[in-house]
Formats: sequence, structure tokens, C-alpha cells
Amino acid sequence: ACPVNAITTGNNTFRFLRDLATPNKLVITQMAPAVRVAIGEAFGLEPGTNVENKISSALRQIGVDYVFDTTWAADLTIMEEAAELQERIEKYYSGDKSVRLPILTSCCPAWVKFIEQNYADMLDVPSSAKSPMQMFATVAKDIWAKEKGLERDQVTLVSIMPCIAKKYEASRAEFSRDLNYDVDYVITTSELMTLFKDSNIDLSQIEDSPIDSVLGDYTGGGIIFGRTGGVIEAATRTLYENMTGKKLEKVEFESLRGWDGLRVAEVKVNDLTLRIGIAYGLREAGKLLDKIRNKEEFFHAIEIMACPYGCVGGGGQPKAKKRLETLQQRAEGLNSIDRSLDLRVSKDNPKVRAIYDNHLDHPLSHKAHELLHTEYFVKVKRGKDENTDASKEE
Ligand code: SF4
Repeated sequence: ACPVNAITTGNNTFRFLRDLATPNKLVITQMAPAVRVAIGEAFGLEPGTNVENKISSALRQIGVDYVFDTTWAADLTIMEEAAELQERIEKYYSGDKSVRLPILTSCCPAWVKFIEQNYADMLDVPSSAKSPMQMFATVAKDIWAKEKGLERDQVTLVSIMPCIAKKYEASRAEFSRDLNYDVDYVITTSELMTLFKDSNIDLSQIEDSPIDSVLGDYTGGGIIFGRTGGVIEAATRTLYENMTGKKLEKVEFESLRGWDGLRVAEVKVNDLTLRIGIAYGLREAGKLLDKIRNKEEFFHAIEIMACPYGCVGGGGQPKAKKRLETLQQRAEGLNSIDRSLDLRVSKDNPKVRAIYDNHLDHPLSHKAHELLHTEYFVKVKRGKDENTDASKEE
């Protein structure tokens, strides 16, 4: 069940297979954080088991040329979002009337479409940072491909996502140039699972093979994007260190965690107590936005994800019998990866720093705005069923 009844919901498996079979066609993939802790369920593994290196191996086996990871771009998204939040806070408290708080995370296309359709007077509040999927795609086609001497249309970029709404996001016109889309098409976790089974690939048995790290490894901040509260926790880790100039002694912000559909937390940064809202399910998001619009509540930042427990519960993920228990296990799987990493704050990612040094100067620079930011448009609802709440449907 897609939270937005996404416009482009077609299954692209056949197209993927055709591209893989086409001689001299360069096919690259990116994979979202939540995919790796869910797909193993279809092969008898426990929910939450991290099979990223098995997915990588299986993708190579079916002919993918480069297997990349969206999670690296989640760290890049955090660099931009944390800088944007800091800039807005500083302007807001200096009396600059051109900015509004809260800032709203913008990596969920279902939620972006929801606000475009229902809160046209609030389109200046979402972060303008592109989602990790779209940031990855821009970097891959406009920087990585160029460095390899390739034109954009010589690279076919396939995104493996837990999400049906990502098909809609990839098809938005602003994410294309000269009729070449940054993301060529999206395959969901469930579609990939079927493709592997049809190809007689048993993910539980296949040897590991590491993801290509040309574009970089990820930090713990990037991997927790896949669960509720993860985007804002990752942003808070980087924001805290940027604003205080100190290293965090404890990177886990327990106050931002939990399973309720609507949560409020406070985080102290220097003399400022940040008030943060976290919601999943568009019904809860609507309640939160109404309160903000009516000035009943004030927040500095808000994370909204359309699906239950965030992307781990996305409409493109395998269906689970014990649903909530399974979603929690998937989320804990991401937390466990985070805990296992040496680098857990996005700003410490060396490859992310390198891309700023070599191509983008610094977060929010002119070049970063050109490549990594987007804008939002008023949209008209076309059917009474649009904006269906994912948590109700699933
Ligand atoms: Fe997609 Fe759901 Fe994640 Fe939003 S919360 S990005 S709709 S999977």
C-alpha cells in the first residue's frame, strides 16, 4: 500500500532484466538502508539481519556493473539538512523574518506530496535538501560518471528502495535533465526478492561480496535513516557537534527514539533547548502541521515519514505476519549496524568531506545548492483516495 497511491507504480523488473542483458550497457544500483534488514526474511533469515553484502553479491551475479549504497548519500543529506537547520535557527533568533521554524525533513516523497497538496502555505518550511536517493543519483550521474568519461545517458541508474512512492519521486520532472532522469527507475525490496527467487538465487546461501565503495562507505548516522526518528537523530548528531564544537560523548539520543506515531522530544544544544517533533503516518503528520499552522505548538525541527516505523515499514518491503514485531526487529537491525560502526556522525564521513573538498566547497554553497537541493510546488489532488495513510492501509 503506497501512502500516496504513487503515480508511477509500475513494476520495472522486466526493464531491469532487459537492461542487464543489453551488451555494453552500464547498469549501476543504489540500495536504501531499510532494504538490507528486510529482504532476508524471504530466505528464512530473521528480520533485522543485515544482508547488504549478500544483496551486493546477488546483484553482481545477475549482471549489475556497480553496486552502490544510498546510505552514503544519507550522510550527504545530513550535511545539508544540519547546515540548513543551523542557518535557520541563527537567522530566526537574530530576528530575520525571512525564515520560519520548524524545518521539516524532506526525504520521504509521500510526505512531500502530502504537504504540496494540503499545506500550500507552508512550502517554505521543508528542508530543500534532496532525498538521499536523489542526492546519490545526482552525484553518480553528474560527478562520478563524468570522472569516468561518461555522459549521463550512458549510465542506467536503478534504485532499490523499500518504497513505492520512490517510483513517483524518481519520475518528478525536476529530477531530470534533457529527458534523462537522475534515477532511471526504482525496484522495490519485494520486486528484488522475486527477481532473486526467479533467478534461483538463495540469499541465505550466497557468499558475501562487499558493496562498491567508490562513492564512499557510510556512518551510523546514515544507516538509521531507515527507521522512525533516525533522520532527525542523524541531523541532531551533526548539528550538535557543529554548533557546540565538541564531540558527542554519547551519539544515541534516546529521547528521539520510540514507536509511538507522534512523539515530542527536547535536546539541549549550547543554551538552546531544541524542541523536536517526530511523526509517522500522514494522519499524525496532518495533526502536527495543523498545530504548527495554528501556532498552537512551536518546534525547531520535525521528522515526518509516511510509513509505520519509517522506511522499515515501507509499502515496497516484504509483508510480515507479526507486523509490528517484525518492523521493530528491522529497525533494531539498523540500530545494531549503527552501534557496530567506528564512525557514527555523518560529518565524520571522509568520502563526504572529500566530495565537498573536490566538488561542492561546503554545505549550502552555491554548487551544493545547484546539485543537492530542490524546490516544492503546489499540487492539486486528483482523486479522493490520494494521501491515504500508510499506517491505516497496511
Ligand atoms: Fe517511502 Fe514510506 Fe520511507 Fe516515506 S516512509 S520514504 S513512503 S518507505
